Amino acid sequence: MTGTLYLVPTPIGNLGDISRRCAETLAAADFIAAEDTRVSLKLLNHLEIKKPLVSYHEHNKKESGPRILERLLAGESCALVTDAGCPAISDPGEDLVRLCAGAGVPVCALPGPCAAITALSVSALATGRFAFEGFLPPQKKERKARLERLKAEERTMIFYEAPHHLRGTLEDLLAAFGPERPVSLCRELTKLHEEVLRLTLGRAAEYYAANEPRGEYVLVLAGAEQQTEAVSLEQAAELARALIADGMRTKDAVKQIAQETGVSKNALYAALV
Ligand code: SAM
Repeated sequence: MTGTLYLVPTPIGNLGDISRRCAETLAAADFIAAEDTRVSLKLLNHLEIKKPLVSYHEHNKKESGPRILERLLAGESCALVTDAGCPAISDPGEDLVRLCAGAGVPVCALPGPCAAITALSVSALATGRFAFEGFLPPQKKERKARLERLKAEERTMIFYEAPHHLRGTLEDLLAAFGPERPVSLCRELTKLHEEVLRLTLGRAAEYYAANEPRGEYVLVLAGAEQQTEAVSLEQAAELARALIADGMRTKDAVKQIAQETGVSKNALYAALV
């Protein structure tokens, strides 16, 4: 019988964040595929788990992926981990999941730490609708084009960034979205020096011009203000007529539609009578 690929999230800083189910899955797997086996070995030592490790990362995934698939097809189970956080989110696990799903191998994702979701929840920005953008493209042209496409994005946006690129990225975000756009800079989440700065892009660029960026960052950026389309008097009157036809009193219909559309109550009343 075919084995299962388990996607096992690991702590993004605080070792206490490994769940019991994740630890048990690591202990039960036949082997573990890790982004950096040295990093994962530290976690396994902490959990007192001894398991064969194979390496699976950006630069060997083309050779390593099919080898892992072969073992799964032969009936072994594999736990996939990354250096930190949720496998397949801004790391090479994505390709292994596709490979296994395409070959009919069951893939089981365990819930657990993810830098993007941890940052979003603490950002104090709107969380109802969001767009995960991961790392911006490093090449100037592609980066500019990506930001251009995001200018009208109304959902909250989430970006990953390394400290040595933070200043440049803030400058690019400032140029694309303007100085007043709110941003939450979430640094070293779950670690000793965890910090969340809730600023505007203008203030953030100033702050980091004077202070050295340190540690890992997630930038959570507010979306563009919703564009409310202007409603004409005739359109507002149509809406009010529909409410009246449904049995609402004219006075109440005028009040409700005026509130919803911004059309003046007197003008609306005059248009109706
Ligand atoms: N798959 C991982 C996840 O979803 O959490 C993310 C992997 S990605 C290669 C690494 C990036 O995640 C870092 O550059 C940083 O932007 C973010 N990150 C990871 N750990 C973090 C932490 N403790 N605090 C803030 N950002 C973190």
